[in-house]
Amino acid sequence: MHIIVIGAGLLGVSTAYFLKRNGAEVTVLESDDAPAMGASYGNGGYGQASVADPWNAPGINKVFLAAWMNSLSGRAEQSAFVARTRALPGLMPWGIKFLRHAKADIYLKHTIENSQLARYTRDVLEEIDDAEQFSYAKSDVGGLIIFRDDQSLAGYVELSKKVCANDMPYEVLDTDALVKKEPSLAGIRDVLVGAVHFPDDPAGNSRVFCEQLAEAATSRGATFKYGVAVSSIECRQSGVSIKTRGGEIRGDAVVVAAGTGSRQLVRPLGIRLPIAPAKGYSISVPMNDWRERPRHVIADMGVHAGVNPMGDILRVAGTAEFAGMRPGISKERIDYLVQLTAQIFPEFAMTINRDEIDPWAGFRPLSADGLPMLGSTNVDNVYLNTGHGGLGWSQAAGSGKAVADHIFGKSGAYDISEFSAGRFN
Ligand SMILES: Cc1cc2nc3c(=O)[nH]c(=O)nc-3n(C[C@H](O)[C@H](O)[C@H](O)COP(=O)(O)OP(=O)(O)OC[C@H]3O[C@@H](n4cnc5c(N)ncnc54)[C@H](O)[C@@H]3O)c2cc1C
Repeated sequence: MHIIVIGAGLLGVSTAYFLKRNGAEVTVLESDDAPAMGASYGNGGYGQASVADPWNAPGINKVFLAAWMNSLSGRAEQSAFVARTRALPGLMPWGIKFLRHAKADIYLKHTIENSQLARYTRDVLEEIDDAEQFSYAKSDVGGLIIFRDDQSLAGYVELSKKVCANDMPYEVLDTDALVKKEPSLAGIRDVLVGAVHFPDDPAGNSRVFCEQLAEAATSRGATFKYGVAVSSIECRQSGVSIKTRGGEIRGDAVVVAAGTGSRQLVRPLGIRLPIAPAKGYSISVPMNDWRERPRHVIADMGVHAGVNPMGDILRVAGTAEFAGMRPGISKERIDYLVQLTAQIFPEFAMTINRDEIDPWAGFRPLSADGLPMLGSTNVDNVYLNTGHGGLGWSQAAGSGKAVADHIFGKSGAYDISEFSAGRFN
């Protein structure tokens, strides 16, 4: 069975790797010149196995309204969330679906479903580690979600209680216990109210992981073709024909794992994917001789940013901009991330040499209901592995294995029925 995978980001490479392990002939087509050059390159690296909450939280409509006001007020570059006026008409159908899903019961259900997939992913990551001996700045101390106001902390503790139940350990920390566990936060002790520690959450450098997984898939016989942009997918009586500028490639089936590019690839086949690009930024900063370096990946819910020590660099990631696929890296956005770094690690931020900062921006493929789209479609031989939004690293390895097993109809495969794109019909 020859399967073509479109996209060599985290989701495409994970799918290719497990298709290969299932014995398929695999060809990966990637328009860029290496794996992980899209959203998978510079993300926050937090594997949210305990609480993988989608963005459609109740109250997100107020955040969206504020995001739009931010773009009108001239404070856009200094705000965590921005929705540009000119992008709004194009966002409308997606946005209505997105807001319709921001109800407490749906949010909880989708958080549980996402978290189960993320826990499966954590187990699959361990399986890959056993088989391949990768090294990608993995952490084994878990993640910290830190808070600057009591109400937000209390709400998150409630959510953790429901989502973790008896499956995942978590610990609520007051500021003393937090600073004892993570002394690098001592400088902002007075503005914090507490944290939740998830000891079993993984973290790492997703780009390095993706590159190593692509190498492992190649050594198992997968073919990666870079610089090959797919223009269309055509279904034949048996199998598929993939059109690229360089010609046609035929296979028995195709898996579309093209991140924000997935939607337009499958639309001519009558498959509607409500996915919007949510642009985010990160900076990677050398930690040089910083003695009190952080040990944990930390999500600061007060400033909406994540920090992650990856070897000798500190990754700071955050911001969401709804402005279509507007490329480029804004200097003001990078300044904003440096300011956020100063709000979390004031002393370290004073030592940052601006010339050493590695800036990056990428587009999260954000589905309208906060769940990814996995598996079969209503078109024979066309499969999906996309729409993971801000959870693509948390769910990549598990999604890849689950989709590959689904295609092969393996018994005992992870059940992906709730992630079927058919739910939007
Ligand atoms: C700032 C930021 C922080 C984040 N932090 C986290 C985090 O801490 N934890 C977490 O779990 N997730 C995080 N994410 C989300 C995560 O990075 C994404 O969900 C994930 O990378 C998506 O992977 P992908 O493979 O679907 O997309 P991509 O990595 O974008 O890969 C898609 C690939 O498809 C290729 N492609 C597209 N169209 C075509 C075509 N027509 N032909 C050929 N190739 C094509 C693209 O070139 C690209 O390489 C973050 C994202 C951002 C932006």
